[in-house]
Amino acid sequence: MSATPTILLSIVIPVYNEELNLPTLFARLYPVLDALGRRYEIVFTNDGSADRSFALLQAQHAARPDVTRVIDFNSNYGQHMAIMAAFERVRGEVIVTLDADLQNPPEEIPKLLEKIAAGHDYVGGFRIDRQDSLFRTCASRLINFVREKTTSIEMTDQGCMLRAYKREIVEAIVRSGAINTFIPALAYSFSGNPAEVGVKHEERHAGVSNYSFYSLIRLNFDLITGFSLAPLQYFTMFAGLSAAGSFLLVLILAYRRLFLGAEAEGIFTLFGILFFLLSVAMIGIGLIGEYVGRTYQVVRARQRYYVRETLETKSEGSQ
Ligand code: UDP
Ligand code: MG
Repeated sequence: MSATPTILLSIVIPVYNEELNLPTLFARLYPVLDALGRRYEIVFTNDGSADRSFALLQAQHAARPDVTRVIDFNSNYGQHMAIMAAFERVRGEVIVTLDADLQNPPEEIPKLLEKIAAGHDYVGGFRIDRQDSLFRTCASRLINFVREKTTSIEMTDQGCMLRAYKREIVEAIVRSGAINTFIPALAYSFSGNPAEVGVKHEERHAGVSNYSFYSLIRLNFDLITGFSLAPLQYFTMFAGLSAAGSFLLVLILAYRRLFLGAEAEGIFTLFGILFFLLSVAMIGIGLIGEYVGRTYQVVRARQRYYVRETLETKSEGSQ
């Protein structure tokens, strides 16, 4: 990251197959930022789009080379990696992330900036009147609940990507070298003074969500396992309890076998021993899991994306 103090604001937007939304996004976003009257830049990451998104970004870079930068990934690495690549390159003192599909109205950006100006180092948006399918909304509530129980992260709406960060926070995120991460949660863990504001939420302007059921599950797995070892610990505790229960069963069956005689030719005694050994094996798996989890936390520090090309002019930033 090279710091040019004259650029105050960096807008970061991940783009994956958004050809239908980009023209409207450009038409709404640039006027909002121009009206702020401060030097800004917009960093788009093309996350391996298969449609005309990159061509549209190239054209936009040609039209507004003063404020537009484009990072082009060779393939699809996911929304959070796209944001990470932009974070590594931003020049602003304040950084705002935004979705390209206009679900986060660009007109809400000044609201976040006000909170930053009031002294907060991280401002998260939460969606007022969320416009997503019932399934997405319910799934999101469930994962919010699990996250609250397993990590110390407090957020009203972890899925809202309209967020503002002070440069220190973004630098800490980049330094952490995290991969497969969940940026809002990581930012929260580095923030000393977070705030939240309600932001409008619109329906996707065009196209369908890029998240398949599988990638949503993956993302939420990353959120939970990336920030705590609690699932592994719960698993080991459960295995321990079941081992204790089975051991009790073995004792009871042994007592019956010795004093009351064999039942069904001792088959239940065998079952008891079998259950006990099974529980021991589960504890073993749990323990191995703990170590794999810890090792994973270290190994995660790998860089996981490849930038094919960046479009930018040397002297960015305009009024
Ligand atoms: N996105 C991305 N890479 C992906 C999936 C999504 O860069 O693999 C971008 C997408 O272009 C959009 C934002 O991330 O700007 C949010 O994606 P989407 O609208 O599909 O997610 P949802 O709003 O359904 O959570
Ligand atoms: Mg969306």
